[in-house]
Amino acid sequence: MSAYPMHEARPGADLAPYRADFPVLQRPMNDRRLAFLDSAASAQKPQCVIDAERDCYERYYANIHRGVYQLSQQSTQAFENVRGIVQRFINAPDEREVVFVRGATEAINLVAQSFVRPMLQPGDEVLITGMEHHANIVPWQLVTEATGAHLVVAPVLDDGSLDMDGLRARISERTRFISVVHVSNTLGTINPVETITELAHARGIPVLIDGAQSAPHMPVDVQAMGADFYTFSAHKTYGPNGSGILWGRLAHLQAMPPYQGGGDMIRTVRFEGSEYAEPPQRFEAGTPNIAGVIATGVGLEYMEAVGRDRILAHEQSLLAYANERLAEWDDLRVIGTAPGKAGVISFVIDGIHPHDMGTILDMEGVAVRVGHHCTQPLMERFDVPATVRASFGLYNDRADVDALVDGLHKVKSLLG
Ligand code: PLP
Repeated sequence: MSAYPMHEARPGADLAPYRADFPVLQRPMNDRRLAFLDSAASAQKPQCVIDAERDCYERYYANIHRGVYQLSQQSTQAFENVRGIVQRFINAPDEREVVFVRGATEAINLVAQSFVRPMLQPGDEVLITGMEHHANIVPWQLVTEATGAHLVVAPVLDDGSLDMDGLRARISERTRFISVVHVSNTLGTINPVETITELAHARGIPVLIDGAQSAPHMPVDVQAMGADFYTFSAHKTYGPNGSGILWGRLAHLQAMPPYQGGGDMIRTVRFEGSEYAEPPQRFEAGTPNIAGVIATGVGLEYMEAVGRDRILAHEQSLLAYANERLAEWDDLRVIGTAPGKAGVISFVIDGIHPHDMGTILDMEGVAVRVGHHCTQPLMERFDVPATVRASFGLYNDRADVDALVDGLHKVKSLLG
């Protein structure tokens, strides 16, 4: 465990005491208690994460790797230590499989360009689903367009579940890769990723699981999932911005060419040709986000200290409470009602634009996201221009849900 106090584990189902760990949640918003309901976009940071980043700069910051002086060795050690933390967090077999990147977006682009693009021939197919974030759509468009391959999309059912028959039917002789979101950032749907990897592997097809919305909310086991690659962003797992994780099976990473060239990813450089370092360094060109990676590890340890089973149970109980309270509105439609979904509620109200709702809710101290949530094809699928999205983190409580419902009464009184 790291040197930063995680605030001793507080047993029991009640996560209320953890709210005090998040400085920004202590500030009032428009003279009200801030109800922060936008963790799907980015989570707030506990004090230990903020301290870890500052502490690095204040006490031991230096560029990492190859430095012979103590500061550099200390920061190298703290940085490299995070691979083990991530390995444990996602139950990876080997810490050499943990690649530090800028976020889930960069991780998916890296796999698309280095692993998938070289294997694509004209007419080949990459399969995704209709509920992907743009970060798991556009990188595949780039590589399929460049190679003459096709992007194939598995449909989404009316309740927001993945149409598994539709997915099965779209796996063909030409499918070379499948990339699927684990938990939808818009619908909250939790996809049956174990079934998908089984189906894919029976045909020899590797699978990437976009874990941007699963890593922050539930225990993750990449081996049980059967994933070939798993990606997530630290800013959603209570860590800093500009840091993220690509996990990939070692054999895949070893077979992949570098994504970017530069310092720190090579063994030898000659003008005639360079020899690349082994993974993960092969994919970490240039000076990385040193303090950010160190604080990423602290964010993950913080989640482990709270307990991911507890976080999941807590967010599930808030979701049930919110569903109950929102059911009182006849003209409110929740988009995404798949059984067992995660703590994300997207909704629309007849005749009121989501942006107007978001603005009035903000005046009431309630921070929600409005728009397409980087899932424009999903908006089309459900025939809405945008939704209001309330999403939970470990620090939310029933008072936040009550503030949302009170805010919606205000919306109705002003615009309904
Ligand atoms: N995938 C999903 C499901 C997401 O929700 C997000 C971010 O919202 C991403 C990918 C991209 O993450 P980032 O912007 O941190 O790279």
